[in-house]
Amino acid sequence: MMPANDAETLILDLVTPVNDCETVPLENCLGRILGRSVSSQLDFPHWDNSAMDGYAVRYGDVTTVPATLTVVEEIPAGQVPQCPVKPGEAARIFTGGMLPTGADTIVMQENTQRAGEQVTVVTAPSAQAFVRKQGSFYQAGAELLAAGTNIEAAEIAVLAAAQCVAVPVYRRPRVAILSTGDELVDINQPLGPGQIVDSNRYALAALIAQSGGVPVPMGIVPDQRAATRQAIAAALNQADMVISSGGVSVGDYDYVDQILAELGATIHIRSVAVKPGKPLTVATFAQPNRQQLYFGLPGNPVSSLVSFWRFVQPALRKLSGCSSGWSPTFVWATTATDLKAGGQRETYLWGQLSLGNDGYRFNLAPGGHSSGNLVNLSRTNGLARVPLGERLIPAGTLVRVLKVGDVNL
Ligand code: AMP
Ligand code: MG
Repeated sequence: MMPANDAETLILDLVTPVNDCETVPLENCLGRILGRSVSSQLDFPHWDNSAMDGYAVRYGDVTTVPATLTVVEEIPAGQVPQCPVKPGEAARIFTGGMLPTGADTIVMQENTQRAGEQVTVVTAPSAQAFVRKQGSFYQAGAELLAAGTNIEAAEIAVLAAAQCVAVPVYRRPRVAILSTGDELVDINQPLGPGQIVDSNRYALAALIAQSGGVPVPMGIVPDQRAATRQAIAAALNQADMVISSGGVSVGDYDYVDQILAELGATIHIRSVAVKPGKPLTVATFAQPNRQQLYFGLPGNPVSSLVSFWRFVQPALRKLSGCSSGWSPTFVWATTATDLKAGGQRETYLWGQLSLGNDGYRFNLAPGGHSSGNLVNLSRTNGLARVPLGERLIPAGTLVRVLKVGDVNL
């Protein structure tokens, strides 16, 4: 059994990120990874402009107040100033309006009194107050966003401002999903005695999509050598990465590892010191310019999800070209109850993470914490970690929690 941290490092080292780009319209690039560095030929701001509604003045005119100036022009946002501001003059200006030549300072309108064509500045501003200087946020030609950036709302705003209508993004890696097990039936098939629905396929597809991949479900694979071999070979042909669930334990019908070896894989990991999720096969197939990664996850529904969150998600984030933030997110939380473990494996206990005034709190999910109990895993958003070698984290103390969902404030 390999310790979890060693397994995580080893897995990340096996990943070569995808390098090919495609171009998508700006409105479709949310959640994609920028594939090339983007720059702009414009400074940001594009020109000196006002950050306030008020008056554009010459600083030298308003060092002693009250100071009365003649208003020579009005400059709403989007209008080009028509006349310079000379000594003794001011221009009425609005937020975003271009600074007229001669002016170097904005007096906010709350600090003025207007009478016809005259304005009196009653409070002295500081030099260059409320002027957004051309190029003060960004200078033309520099890198605006780096390749590998995860594109979210703020990045979309930046790309839009740079008039990047078609965005170069890395293509999404295709991830094949195989569900092994004679007992499995499709979601829309009648359920006979001894059978269960292949729920892993749907959960894994959701997690793959969330992690930036394209799920490629390949169906149910019966527990037979030939069928398993055929299915794995087909999956390797169709995808950048392959994930199977089930068939990696030590049971008589667990063929996955044998078939991987027969197909020429290098097997790097067979089991990890994690509970739930001890059986975990990590293998690679040598392809012309990279290693193709194979994850054999345990079949138990909770175990397969825990293995995904802990090991597959970071690998998939790296594979998708994301330049950082691959590692799982652990936060410190105060546990409301005792958390117990056997000490032999890094143990995950699922529950509800919430944010109070004193930081995160963790409430263990009620009911059994068995790797087959999918039901109480739903509606949780965190997995508390009892480290390898520890048996108890007492109520009221801090525990590391793997964040796997949104936290309501
Ligand atoms: P295995 O790892 O193949 O020994 O399977 C362990 C347990 O997980 C068994 O109880 C299986 O029935 C269950 N299981 C395996 N694959 C799936 C699946 N795709 N969806 C739901 N449960 C599964
Ligand atoms: Mg099985």
